[in-house]
Amino acid sequence: MSNVLVIGAGGVSSVTVHKMAMLPNVFKNITLASRTLKKCQDIQTKVKEKYNININIAKLDADNINETVKLINKISPFLIINLALPYQDLNIMEACLITNTHYLDTANYEPKDEAKFEYSWQWDYSKKFQEKGLMALLGSGFDPGVTNVYTAHTKKHFLNSIHSLDILDCNAGDHGHPFATNFNPEINIREVTSESKHWENNNWQVGPALTNKVSFDFPEIGPKNMYLMYHEELESLVKHFPEIKKARFWMTFGDSYLKHIEVLQNIGMTSIKPINYNGMDIVPLQFLKQVLPDPGSLGNRTKGKTCIGTIITGQKNGKEETHYTYNICDHEQCYEEVGSQAISYTTGVPAMIGAMLMIQKIWYKPGVWNVEQFDPDPFMDLLNKHGLPSQTIQLDKKLSF
Ligand code: NDP
Repeated sequence: MSNVLVIGAGGVSSVTVHKMAMLPNVFKNITLASRTLKKCQDIQTKVKEKYNININIAKLDADNINETVKLINKISPFLIINLALPYQDLNIMEACLITNTHYLDTANYEPKDEAKFEYSWQWDYSKKFQEKGLMALLGSGFDPGVTNVYTAHTKKHFLNSIHSLDILDCNAGDHGHPFATNFNPEINIREVTSESKHWENNNWQVGPALTNKVSFDFPEIGPKNMYLMYHEELESLVKHFPEIKKARFWMTFGDSYLKHIEVLQNIGMTSIKPINYNGMDIVPLQFLKQVLPDPGSLGNRTKGKTCIGTIITGQKNGKEETHYTYNICDHEQCYEEVGSQAISYTTGVPAMIGAMLMIQKIWYKPGVWNVEQFDPDPFMDLLNKHGLPSQTIQLDKKLSF
């Protein structure tokens, strides 16, 4: 029952595996499989040194369904925790259906050759998962993930209905590099260079990337410029809370990050169209990823805090109220605990929590689900216990922007 297979051995995976190793009564047998065996070995060694726990490792190309099926059949896990890239989601879900295995991920499917992400591809698997009595939990990271749980929690405990939802993601960490991304560079740059999109007047409102800017005074951090963006949880939250009239996602960026992005875009380095170089087809963005710092290596040099949360306005007993729920996470404390920076930490811990709730059958229902479709209370309790405590404050008035 508590036999799990983690796919992907990057920054997020390292945190999830460390956190699972701290709970040997829940996660009795952990196998870590990824494309580069050396990265699995590194995590295996660290976990052994820190907690004296043995995890199994395997080499796996999860783009290959047969290879994944073979590995699953060999170890018979209860659950696959997919912490590879969004490109692998559908193939891993196929392998789960073939082998009768439950599924969890932190990012929705994205085709490699098109910078577009949406849930429809994965939601379409719901009937197949239901028919087999299997569960897939989508987006169990921070955003998506904890922000969805915060929304469900605000509705359950503070409001009768939600009118407007703003998700505010601030990373005030400083890693000392002129330019680096805090999670997979390819996925990060595809995301931030996409058009902005938010929900208003019963429709998606589309605008240019990184142009709508406001300053916000973040708790324990201070004022930062944040930019309107599209983020995947807006799609599921608007669907599952149909009363929402306005839903937006904001992320902070420093001037240096934005300047680098602008230059890289202008010279074509963020393109995902292959070009021919010396007789070889290369994708500029994939080449760029290879020369940028590995986000997993930022841990020991990042200082500062993150603050990610939701500001939600709605009705309570006929009166308007606004509630801000957020988590503050300190990069250096995360590194001290598990050897990773806060972005990997804030994603890896909720992945462990989602897996724990499925294993303990607290969140357990055949079909394909987003986290806001379950009772938020057990997830909120576990966030408090496992390193991501949240605070909720009532604001005097709704956001003015
Ligand atoms: P990394 O790039 O650090 O790690 C990805 C890992 O997946 C690498 O070990 C990589 O292997 C492996 N991988 C890639 N392709 C394959 C494949 N075909 N078969 C097997 N393994 C493969 O990424 P992160 O850890 O930063 O991010 C992991 C996931 O978490 C991403 O999907 C990201 O979008 C998501 N995420 C979600 C967030 C949230 O809050 N919900 C926030 C941040 C990230 P190799 O080393 O060989 O390249």
